[in-house]
Parts: sequence; C-alpha cells; structure tokens
Amino acid sequence: MGEPFDAVRVAADLARRLGVKATRDEPLARFTTMRVGGPADLYAVAHNTFELRGIVRFARARAIPFLLLGRGSNLVISDAGVRGLVIHVKAEESRVDRDRYVSDAGVPMARAATETQAAGLAGLEYGLAIPGTVGGAVWANAGAHGGDTASVLESATLLLEDGSEVTLPADELRFAYRHSRLKDAMDPAGAREIVLGATFRLRPDDAVAIKGRLEEIRRWRREHQPLGIPSAGSVFRNPPGDSAGRLIDQLGLKGYRVGGAVVSEKHANFIVNDRGGTATDVRRVVEHVRAQVQERCGITLALEIELAGDWSAYTPQEAA
Ligand SMILES: Cc1cc2nc3c(=O)[nH]c(=O)nc-3n(C[C@H](O)[C@H](O)[C@H](O)COP(=O)(O)OP(=O)(O)OC[C@H]3O[C@@H](n4cnc5c(N)ncnc54)[C@H](O)[C@@H]3O)c2cc1C
Repeated sequence: MGEPFDAVRVAADLARRLGVKATRDEPLARFTTMRVGGPADLYAVAHNTFELRGIVRFARARAIPFLLLGRGSNLVISDAGVRGLVIHVKAEESRVDRDRYVSDAGVPMARAATETQAAGLAGLEYGLAIPGTVGGAVWANAGAHGGDTASVLESATLLLEDGSEVTLPADELRFAYRHSRLKDAMDPAGAREIVLGATFRLRPDDAVAIKGRLEEIRRWRREHQPLGIPSAGSVFRNPPGDSAGRLIDQLGLKGYRVGGAVVSEKHANFIVNDRGGTATDVRRVVEHVRAQVQERCGITLALEIELAGDWSAYTPQEAA
C-alpha cells in the first residue's frame, strides 16, 4: 500500500463514485463458517457483478489491499482482522440456458445444485456438499462425492490484474486437485484474478433421479461430517495416496483441544469451534496436529484452509 489507509476518506469515495456503502471495523466472524476473525478496516458488499468489478478496480487504482470473501467456508480469519478492504461477493444472478447453468460468482453452490436439479440437469450434485460460492469453488476446484468443478465447468469469466475481463475455457484454468490458476495468482495486496461468473455444461437427466442423489449426499454428510458446528471443512489436503483424516485419527488426535477449538470426534480432518473459540485457538490446534504428523509419520501436511488477515501478533503458545 503506497499511502496510509484512510478508511473514512475511502468510504466516502466509494459512496460518491460507486454508490457503495462501506462500513468501518466490521466484525467478520459471522461471515465465516468457522465463526472466528476480527474486524475489517473497511467492508463493502458487491451485490452484483457491476459493483464487484467497480470495487476491485477502485481498490487497485488506489493500491488498497483487499480480500474477497465468498461464504467464508475455507477461511480462518485472524483475531486481529483484515487490514484494508474486505469485498463480500454477493453477486447472485443465475439462469438455466438449455444444458448450461450460467451464474454470478456469489451464487451459493448448494443453490446451483438444487436449481439445476429442478431443471433436470445433472453434474452439479456435488455442489450440495460445498457451503461456498461459485467463485470460491472455481478458486479451489471444489469437489465432493466423485464430482468436482473442473469436470463440469465450461468457462469462467475473470477480471484480470490489468483490469481486462476474459472468459476462459476450463482447460485454461489449470485445474488440479483443489487447485486452479486463481490460487497461483494470490497476492497479499489482493487477488490478482477474480471470478466474476461461471458457465457449467451439464447433462440432461431425470429430475427425480437427481433429487435422489442429492438426498444421498445429504444423508452421507449428516453421518460423516460435524454439521451444524462451526468449521471450515477439511483442514489439510490429503497427501498423495493417503488421507489426512486417517493419519490424524491413527495418532489419537481426535479430541485434541486448545480453548474453543478441537479436532472433531466425527471427522479427524475437521477442526470445529464448539465453544466460542478464537482464530488463535484454531491455528494452535492446526499447528499441533501438523507437528505431530510430521514427527510421528514423517509426512508434511499442507493446509487446505486458508489463514487470512493480519497474523502478525500470532504466537504459537500462550505466554507463560
Ligand atoms: C462443513 C464444510 C464442508 C466442506 N466440504 C468441502 C468439500 O467436500 N469439498 C471441497 O472442495 N470443499 C469443501 N469445503 C470447503 C469450502 O466450502 C470450499 O473451499 C469453497 O469452495 C469455498 O468457497 P467460499 O465462497 O466459501 O470461499 P471463501 O472461503 O470465502 O474464500 C476462499 C478463497 O477464495 C477466494 N475467493 C472467493 N471468491 C472469489 C472470487 N469470486 N474470485 C476469486 N477468488 C475468490 C477468497 O479470496 C479466498 O482466498 C467445506 C467447508 C465446510 C465448512
């Protein structure tokens, strides 16, 4: 950031130029599924792609660091919060166009799953298991139950670093296991590439049969995941040929707790925040588990969740 960040002036500019209302010191915990995280210096909602484009361009033109927030289902935001601007992506238009589903970045994946089911289109069933947005799903190549974003995405419309807008076919998005080119383009000053919208190419199928598959996914999740308790889904990526949950379980780490954060008894690769914990609690559990797996199995677990915001005051242990 070039100049000191003057939140009052920036909020006034945003209102004048784009008609967007920004709030100062907005607590972020309630916008994440882990329910942790301090305030954003400045927080603005993009209600449509016009606002999303405008706010990002506005921030870049003034070198204001920004964080895009979807449903906050893959994020652990620090207790100190986020310096700069948080842009909450709530552009939520969608439509079915024959065998395609065309959606803005902020459409919840679960809604994409049910809307396409009702239209008799198969392929987005896995979306029911993803409590995030279409933008977040493209970013992560989110997937579940044998499906993933890479397999059904036809194209995504991106706002690039130079301010231009392109619609790229899926094979230019460098999809791999929980990875896309959006992750390559991460930057502390703000994402270099932003998903504005996506088009999924689906397969006509019997709506009743698709509904049955959605019910099966619902049932499986209820049985295997700690739903209804704050979490950010799987904490670690599965190491090649193994499962992070299996390794953690085998080391007897289920139930390992720091403050309000604990390794789930139901799914060892989930950390749940069951007692109003802090982001620090969550990170301390993460680091303990990672160190144990490293020490006792010789395997380095990589994070699937993203630690976001200002972690400069974080300490691994409580001061004595
Ligand atoms: C209970 C639970 C179960 C889960 N199960 C699964 C699962 O089965 N499979 C799976 O893959 N994931 C799973 N997740 C993780 C999570 O839902 C996915 O990673 C999801 O894709 C994140 O989307 P989001 O909108 O919440 O992104 P956020 O968490 O809000 O953001 C994640 C990252 O994406 C960036 N981002 C968000 N929107 C955009 C955009 N429009 N353009 C560019 N970047 C953007 C953010 O800046 C951030 O860096 C689960 C999470 C929970 C809580």
